[in-house]
Amino acid sequence: MPELPEVETVRRGLQPAMEGAVVQRLEQHRPDLRFPFPQDFATRIEGRRIVALRRRAKYLLIGFDDGSVLISHLGMSGSYFVDHAGSAATPGRFHHDRSKDKKHDHVVFHLDGPRGGSRVIYNDPRRFGFMLLTGEGELAAHPLIRDLGVEPTGNALHAGYLAERFAGKRSPLKAALLDQRIVAGLGNIYVCEALWQARLSPRRTAGSLVTRSGRPVARLEDLVQAVRTVIAAAIEAGGSSLRDHRQADGTLGYFQHTFNTYDQEGMPCRRDGCGGKIRRIVQSGRSTYYCPVCQR
Ligand code: ZN
Repeated sequence: MPELPEVETVRRGLQPAMEGAVVQRLEQHRPDLRFPFPQDFATRIEGRRIVALRRRAKYLLIGFDDGSVLISHLGMSGSYFVDHAGSAATPGRFHHDRSKDKKHDHVVFHLDGPRGGSRVIYNDPRRFGFMLLTGEGELAAHPLIRDLGVEPTGNALHAGYLAERFAGKRSPLKAALLDQRIVAGLGNIYVCEALWQARLSPRRTAGSLVTRSGRPVARLEDLVQAVRTVIAAAIEAGGSSLRDHRQADGTLGYFQHTFNTYDQEGMPCRRDGCGGKIRRIVQSGRSTYYCPVCQR
């Protein structure tokens, strides 16, 4: 399952081939992925120029010159392959090799861009990904988008905002951070890493970081800083990449080797002088990794 840093890496990898390019032809090899493809998909986007390639949470938003927007989600195993100006790459760093089996190539965008022609191929063996068409005007109210919380990379994420959302919450901090209505696009790996960074226990209640008068305690400021830091480092490293995910030039990302907690059960805590061991617990059906000694 790609997390936000992988999706952002994919976006950056696709941008040079896609932005400003005209869709000459769209090949579609099956009627659906997780959901049916848009009706008259090819007819609706052939001849259109791509004006912007954005990201919201884990959705890629491909904007066209007629105001339509293609929402693309990679699901569990989706990836894009870019064949552009003589070089071929799959943006995003993923753990396993991208499926090279052409039978999983479901959509091919034939593009003519400012920097030459290219093919952008969407491959997805497990087909949990999807593509939907909407309009720029409808995007904010779209059912997939409207309830999303703030981006973990933007200025909208600050301690005051989290204090407002966490006030009185008795749910574990881990669960509150995974709630997409509060922070969008933050997944299991980076929540574990950010909590370790901020020395906060995933088991404490979210409300414990808010004063009675609704103000953030200092440790909530630390948490915001930790979230920003781990996400920025993962994007810098080209996405983290576990399991189903994979990537660009075929090389493995190095960020995965630098996880402090995630998948490190039984390993010594990497914090200087801590001496604890990383423990795995299950919260809301998902593995949480943390150090019970230094995370309080
Ligand atoms: Zn520790």
